[in-house]
Amino acid sequence: MAIESVNPATGERLLSFDALTAGELDGKLARAAQAFASYRHTSYAERAGWLHRAADLLDEEAGELGRLATLEMGKTLASAVAEVHKSAKGCRWYADHGEEMLADEPWPIDGARVFTRYEPLGPVLAVMPWNFPYWQVFRFAAPALMAGNAGLLKHASNVPQCALKIEDVLQRAGFAEGVFQTLLIPSSAVKGVIEDDRVRAVTLTGSEPAGRQVAATAGGAVKPSVLELGGADPFIVMPSADVEEAAKQAVASRMLNNGQSCVNAKRFLLHESIADEFLRHMVARMEALKIGDPMADDTDLGPLSSADAVKTLDQQVRDTVEAGADVLTGGTPLDGPGHFYPPTVLANIPDGSPGHHEEFFGPVALVWRVSSTDEAVRVANDSPFGLSGSAWTTDEAEQEKFVAEVDTGMMYVNKFTESTPEVPFGGTRNSGYGRELAAFGPRSFVNPKTVWVQ
Ligand code: NDP
Repeated sequence: MAIESVNPATGERLLSFDALTAGELDGKLARAAQAFASYRHTSYAERAGWLHRAADLLDEEAGELGRLATLEMGKTLASAVAEVHKSAKGCRWYADHGEEMLADEPWPIDGARVFTRYEPLGPVLAVMPWNFPYWQVFRFAAPALMAGNAGLLKHASNVPQCALKIEDVLQRAGFAEGVFQTLLIPSSAVKGVIEDDRVRAVTLTGSEPAGRQVAATAGGAVKPSVLELGGADPFIVMPSADVEEAAKQAVASRMLNNGQSCVNAKRFLLHESIADEFLRHMVARMEALKIGDPMADDTDLGPLSSADAVKTLDQQVRDTVEAGADVLTGGTPLDGPGHFYPPTVLANIPDGSPGHHEEFFGPVALVWRVSSTDEAVRVANDSPFGLSGSAWTTDEAEQEKFVAEVDTGMMYVNKFTESTPEVPFGGTRNSGYGRELAAFGPRSFVNPKTVWVQ
């Protein structure tokens, strides 16, 4: 089966790759196991050196790598280049801090030396999405490699060129052959890879259905898994907030990555006393965005990743409007070529409609009016997802209430959510489990071995 690279801004087919045959896949798994056997004995200093070199290569080649991401998945070139630099930052951060996170951890027992040693697990499979084709991979790879694991990347089928570039960068950085490999395989081959004895753990970033299947396979094989799934992040605005600034940040968050990030603010919960003012600013800002060629410097919003992505989003919007929601702007896909959807704001989202309980993976803001902090918390938690949220208020009691009562893996106050290496990242409920980044990243793929020396 072919794996294809298609430019979503034009619909043009760029390149086609044959998926690995069963024999080729077996060869790569054997190479991973073999490479791990010696890589696990390398020192932290050596691993840090290779990660630093990878960071340098990413920075030096950010223009070319960014262009490839824009061609394959449609994000604006400026954001693609920024993503490559962010990946470099992630590599450097784990090179500089990984060793202290993985150092032996002592326990206080009289008369004995007792500690936890963090040992690598082996080859780890990473099933990754197309939306941040570099950052999502490096935020797994940098900590996992620092911890002494080998990496196997099954990237989304629409970004094969980015996937191959990542392997190439890590090899040129000095990691031995087989320590990090890209597997050009369809998602139907993932189950067999997880079940293979040579693979010791799996991490997936992507949709809830894919997460359920991968976790079920990992559970059946008794292998650890980390799931970073979708989100329908609430963005709560209370009367004490700077309403214009909050609307500006709301649009920035919702439109990030052409509206296709798990932690985009997606549901806007506005106190009724400021809702009209907020929506005036939000709609004006949405309508002022320039839609077009993601390679152009002045483009704010590029295409969605595929024709299917537009179709899914369009259906979700139609069903929500049919159920009674109001369209404040946008609401209809743009004519081709390319897979474009306009900035859209829907208000008065009816219970039971897709807007109420599904993730909208595109530039669509969903709006609720709330009359109190209690109602804001209730609506925020009335979602199957629990990835992140943000609250905009200068009232300390309100801040504390939202932090304590909104059921998400991350809560930001007067700032929208971002993923950065220094801070743990992950969700609750249908947004997945486990954490990436900070010290959780490397510790997700280790055997914390208890050692007692009497
Ligand atoms: P998918 O979950 O389908 O794809 C993510 C990765 O999982 C890809 O590598 C994909 O491979 C693989 N995959 C898909 N199905 C399975 C399966 N059954 N078993 C094993 N691996 C699988 O996401 P999409 O790209 O299709 O996007 C759909 C939705 O996913 C979005 O609307 C959004 O809700 C969510 N999403 C969330 C992201 C996040 O950052 N949390 C990122 C991207 C998507 P292949 O490409 O070969 O199918």
